[in-house]
Amino acid sequence: MRVELSIDELVDGVRSSDRAVLGRALTLVESNAARHRARAEALLTRLLPFSGRAIRVGITGVPGAGKSTFLEALGTRLTGEGKRVAVLAVDPTSSKSGGSILGDKTRMAKLSRDERAFVRPSPSGGALGGVARKTREALLVCEAAGFDVVIVETVGVGQSETAVAAMVDTFVLLWLPSSGDELQGIKRGIVELADVVVVNKADGERIAAAERASSELTAALRYLAPATPGWTTPVLTASALEGTNVDAVWRAIEGHRDTLQRVGELDRRRRDQEIAAMWSAVESELRHRLHADPAVRALATQLERDVASRAIPAAVAASRVADAFTQR
Ligand code: GDP
Repeated sequence: MRVELSIDELVDGVRSSDRAVLGRALTLVESNAARHRARAEALLTRLLPFSGRAIRVGITGVPGAGKSTFLEALGTRLTGEGKRVAVLAVDPTSSKSGGSILGDKTRMAKLSRDERAFVRPSPSGGALGGVARKTREALLVCEAAGFDVVIVETVGVGQSETAVAAMVDTFVLLWLPSSGDELQGIKRGIVELADVVVVNKADGERIAAAERASSELTAALRYLAPATPGWTTPVLTASALEGTNVDAVWRAIEGHRDTLQRVGELDRRRRDQEIAAMWSAVESELRHRLHADPAVRALATQLERDVASRAIPAAVAASRVADAFTQR
């Protein structure tokens, strides 16, 4: 059995970018075990002053859009410039049977071997809220470890894009050359979240289709409120496979972040994100305590029966449960 590292050892290891310790620190913050929570919180408290310095980028797109191919290309380009890059995944399907949509193990093989890069599969946490919280915390740990860029990747399912957009500075949507959003299973709401849109696979026979999709998206974006005030979401075409325009996408990401910084929006956005994360954690913790509460449990069976048999309205039963929980 491995010896448990002290908080001091974890902090030192993370700060000196010791990969093995970094991995263990992430395992700790991702743990579902209640007994790990106090340690995870102590670790995060110690690392917080060292966090906040990375460029935080989110990326989404339907399965097959080319996310992992694109991240290999972008990640290697950034590490080639001497930057250190961490890639974290949010895959709400990863804990369900049948495997994950992102199928992390075989992805980004090249970037995984790059010593300036760190690729971490999605934590499995049941509900999206749990997965998102752990990924936020993993992001802070990676920042404290000195990564210059932290990329959070997700798929367009179950609101995971909203959760990822709420933890990054710049949100990138990867699109396919075919037109029509119903084809891509992507909701208009996701386009609204995007700070940069990339029509990927603009190569070979698909170039014309990619240009068409790009014009359609540019036109559609004109009618949407910009995800960042003062910033017009650009639509670029690229080929992750051939490496075309990957540079331009990175410049757009930097351009967006510069704009955020210039108008003072970066700090505000991050502050709002922290506060929202706090309330979302409060809500999930309270939900957990509510269902574990003995007074609530004692009432629940009878109240459920009464509601099912229409003896009392659901709203009345709900008030009784809430009162039993809060008036102890
Ligand atoms: P993900 O599910 O979004 O991570 O997509 P992948 O990166 O796994 O890519 C899905 C498929 O599309 C793979 O077969 C890739 O080789 C291919 N692909 C990805 N990017 C490109 C591209 O720019 N051009 C072409 N032609 N194929 C691509």
